[in-house]
Amino acid sequence: MSSVKKVLIVGGGIGGQSAAIALAKDGVSVEIAERLEAYNVYGVGIIQQANALKALDKIGIADEAMKRGFPYGQVKMFTAGGHAVGVAGPPPMGKYPSHNGVSRRILHDVMYEEAIKRGVNYRMGLTVKTIENNEDHVSVVFTDGTEGVYDILIAADGIKSEVRKMVFGDYKPQYMGLSVWRYAFKKHEDLDTGYIYYGKRSKIGFIPMSEDSMYMFLVSSEGADNPWIEKSAYISMLKDYLSEYPVKIVNDVIGQITEPDLVNYRPLEATHLPNPWYKNRVIIIGDAAHATVPQLGSGAALAIEDAVVLSEELKSNVSVEDTFKAFMKRRYDRCMMVVNASETLAAWELLEFQGKPLPEGAHPGKLIGQAVGGLMAPF
Ligand SMILES: Cc1cc2nc3c(=O)[nH]c(=O)nc-3n(C[C@H](O)[C@H](O)[C@H](O)COP(=O)(O)OP(=O)(O)OC[C@H]3O[C@@H](n4cnc5c(N)ncnc54)[C@H](O)[C@@H]3O)c2cc1C
Repeated sequence: MSSVKKVLIVGGGIGGQSAAIALAKDGVSVEIAERLEAYNVYGVGIIQQANALKALDKIGIADEAMKRGFPYGQVKMFTAGGHAVGVAGPPPMGKYPSHNGVSRRILHDVMYEEAIKRGVNYRMGLTVKTIENNEDHVSVVFTDGTEGVYDILIAADGIKSEVRKMVFGDYKPQYMGLSVWRYAFKKHEDLDTGYIYYGKRSKIGFIPMSEDSMYMFLVSSEGADNPWIEKSAYISMLKDYLSEYPVKIVNDVIGQITEPDLVNYRPLEATHLPNPWYKNRVIIIGDAAHATVPQLGSGAALAIEDAVVLSEELKSNVSVEDTFKAFMKRRYDRCMMVVNASETLAAWELLEFQGKPLPEGAHPGKLIGQAVGGLMAPF
């Protein structure tokens, strides 16, 4: 049995809550320090491929995520005008469908409910001010002045991780030249799986989130210098991009895009820590360690897998350092495969939107197929 009995997790997002559930299930005492006073997760969805569902199953919540989401098959791909190009994504894997679409808010609720049931202690509205990272324990002072001593600290505080900065120095996220626009709708009657359409200036996708809801994503390039876009311009810009797609589903929903506050616009950034993602008693997981662009829709899946693998390794009867080493052995290459493939796909998309040729030998379909194949391998 591991000597790790008391754990602090900084960041209660998808990765942090997954780690909390996994460890609490094994009898570890877990506290989450979450900087938000209350969660305000936005209402668009998340794509979960079969490997994400397999990881969720290991912490006991895959069935609930599917019940409250929308399991679907391989994604259908089309030209901007609606001509079929092919399908993408993994085939079903055992009991897991190819994909599950679920609202981020709902996934969050499913995780929160399970964590509370398992006795996880959420400390909302605070974070760590100082970390004393020793060889055999970690002592922290929180921003409310309280203090704590833990066997290990897991940092799951996202792409702009403060813990990463405190322990490893500054790894600033880089803007990748692309942005994503998202909007939630009532589910379109024709949407039987995920649909993606490839235009010249953008690509769009429609993803079911439940029997009666779906969201749209649109990927565009807003210029090399990541210009600030006024909220008042969101609706007209989004509709202008959509004018490139004369297809039924777009015609049917475009009139519903009316509220700038419901547009979730986000420039895409990425950053990752070199191997190893731990020092003494602090280990970094999820986006804090390997944030990438969502071209393979797998960042959250990797964060959940990180949590599962860390909890599995923590069960072994070896030193914490050997546990962390074993974690890195199982995680680094797999995560970097996704990071590298996602960033290559994003770079090619950017060239397409700029009307420039792709490098010789570029084959997006082949790269997606290889990456998805890799993701379906055991983790
Ligand atoms: C546009 C877009 C679409 C995406 N689509 C998909 C998809 O379809 N499928 C998929 O698998 N992945 C997707 N991803 C990636 C996915 O969202 C992330 O990989 C995932 O959310 C990472 O989880 P995390 O827990 O590591 O970080 P986060 O989800 O960012 O959670 C971090 C948490 O830490 C808290 N926090 C931050 N700083 C501190 C601090 N200093 N102290 C305490 N708490 C703190 C935050 O409030 C938050 O609750 C997408 C990403 C983007 C940008």
